[in-house]
Amino acid sequence: MRKVETKIQDMDTVTFYWTGHPFVDAGLAAILLIAGKNKPEELNEKDIERAIDFASKLYATKKWSSSFLHGMMMPNNGIILANPGTVGPISAAIKNAIKQEKSLRFSESTKKDLTKRISKNFDSLLADEILKFLKSVSENLSNVQTTNIEKFAEKVVKMVLSQSFVTEAIQRKIKNNLLNLFRDASKSNSLDKPSCIICGKRRAYAKKEVYRAIVPLLGSGDVLNYFHSANPHGADICAHCIFLTQFMPLVSYRLPRVLVIHAYPYELMLELSKEALADVRKNRLASQAKGFKRPENFLFHLVGEITRKIERDEFWENSSVTLYYFICNNQNQVLDVIHIPTQVLRFVAYANRVDQMGWKCIVSMGWKESPDVVNFEKLEREKRRNMIYSRLLNNESILPYFYNPKERKVNAKWNLLAFYCKEVLGLEKESLEFIRDIGDRIVETLERLPTNKMRRRVREIETAEKNINQFAEFFIRLEKDRQELPLKTPLMSFDEFARILTAYGEDLNISWRIVKNLLLFRIYEKLHDKLIEIEKEEEEIEESIE
Ligand SMILES: [Zn+2]
Repeated sequence: MRKVETKIQDMDTVTFYWTGHPFVDAGLAAILLIAGKNKPEELNEKDIERAIDFASKLYATKKWSSSFLHGMMMPNNGIILANPGTVGPISAAIKNAIKQEKSLRFSESTKKDLTKRISKNFDSLLADEILKFLKSVSENLSNVQTTNIEKFAEKVVKMVLSQSFVTEAIQRKIKNNLLNLFRDASKSNSLDKPSCIICGKRRAYAKKEVYRAIVPLLGSGDVLNYFHSANPHGADICAHCIFLTQFMPLVSYRLPRVLVIHAYPYELMLELSKEALADVRKNRLASQAKGFKRPENFLFHLVGEITRKIERDEFWENSSVTLYYFICNNQNQVLDVIHIPTQVLRFVAYANRVDQMGWKCIVSMGWKESPDVVNFEKLEREKRRNMIYSRLLNNESILPYFYNPKERKVNAKWNLLAFYCKEVLGLEKESLEFIRDIGDRIVETLERLPTNKMRRRVREIETAEKNINQFAEFFIRLEKDRQELPLKTPLMSFDEFARILTAYGEDLNISWRIVKNLLLFRIYEKLHDKLIEIEKEEEEIEESIE
C-alpha cells in the first residue's frame, strides 16, 4: 500500500461559519488563530491544511492523546485517535509474528502477513519501518533468552512503540482522518433531512456515529434509551461542525477541568482564545491557564490583561462571554456553564483601566482571611472561591467591599464606585450625585464636632444594620448636632430626607442599605486620617488607664 497523502486542492471549497455553539466556534477560532486571520471567509485551503498539520502533530503524541484528549474531552475519539487502543493492532501484529517464528528472524510469509495487518490499520510505510527496525535490533537481541516468548514479544513491542516512526504513523492517520472529514464537509453542503442540530445549515453526517467520542458531553451510545432522541446514529450533526470540533482542544485551557471560553462578538472570542494557542505553540502542550485553578478567576484576569492592551472601552460594549467548564471521559461527565453578565464585564474592564490598584483592593476583600494585596497574584491562582467574583456572577451587590470598615478606608476611587453604581446597579447619575452631595454635608458636619461626638456618630451609621429606623435616627441626631453648630443651612430638607431613605430601588430593605454604603464610602474617603487619629488616641487613653 502506498503512503497515504491526500491533497485538498481537488476538493470543493468549504466555507466555514460561526454557529453559536461553544465547541464548534472554539474549533473555528483555533483554525483562524493558526492562520493569523480574523474572519472565516478569509480562510483558504492552505490554511486548513496548515491547521490539520499542526493539530495532528500534537494529537499524535501521548501527552495530548491519553491524559488530555481521551482523559478529559473526547474519550476513544476515532478521528483524532484519542484512544489508548490506537496502537493495539501494531502490538498484536508484532506479537503474532514473533510467536509464529519464536525469534526475530521472520520468514517471507510472516513479513507479508505483518505488512498486511499494519497496512490495514495504518499504512505500508509504517510496516516497512517496523520490519527495518526489527531487523536492526535482531542482532542485539539474538543473545536474549527467548524461552519465555510472551515476555520477549512484550519487550520488543515496547521498544517498537517508543520509536518516533510510530508517532509519525499515528500523525499521518490523524491527518488523513481529518482530511477525509474535511472532504465530506465540503460535499455535504446541501440542506437535507435530517439537518444538523448545531448549525442547521447542512445534512447530518451519516458516515460516523456521533457520540461523546467525537463531540464532548454527548451520550456514550451504549444505552440508547438515555440518549436524547434515542437516535441509534447519535446526534444529528454535520461534517462541518464535527470537523471544527476536533480543533477545539487547541484553544481550550486545562485547569482542573477543561475550560472553553465562548464569546461574542467573535473578535472577542479570538482575543480570549489567543493565550491558549500561544501556550500550545510555545510548550507543545495544552495551556495551563497561567496556573489558575478557577475558571472565573482566570477569565477576570484575562479581561484585565486584554483591556490594558486594547485600551478601548467600547470593545466590551455589547459583549457576551460564557465559560464552559467541563470534564468528559468514560467515568465522568460534568459541565458548569458560567455566564458573565455584560455589565460585569464592562465594569471589570473599566476597573482595570481606570483604577487597577483600587480594583485589586476590592477583590482582595473577597478572600476569606484578611485582605491581602501583596500576595494577590498567588491568591487569585488558588482553588478557593473569591467572594467578589462570586457575587458579581450572581448579580449580587459588591458595594460594601468598596471600603474596608476595619481600617475605615476606601479601597477605590469615587469614579470607580460611580461607574459600578451606574452600570451594574443601575443607579441614575443624578441620584448618585445627590447622595454624594448629602455625604459631603454629613462630612462637613462631622468635621466640626468634638472628636468623641464625631466618633460616636460615625459608629452609629456604621452599626445601623438592622432596619431603616436605626438608619433614620442617625440623620436626626446629626441634624440636631448641626443646629448647635455655626452652620446656617440644615442637613437636609424634608423631601431630601424622604428621598434618601426610600427612593432607591423597589425593595425598601435594599434601598437604604445602598445609600448607607455610599455615605460610608464618602465619610471614609474624606475623614479616614482623622478617624484613625481619634482611634489611636482612644487606644492610648485605654492603655494608660490599664
Ligand atoms: Zn452543522
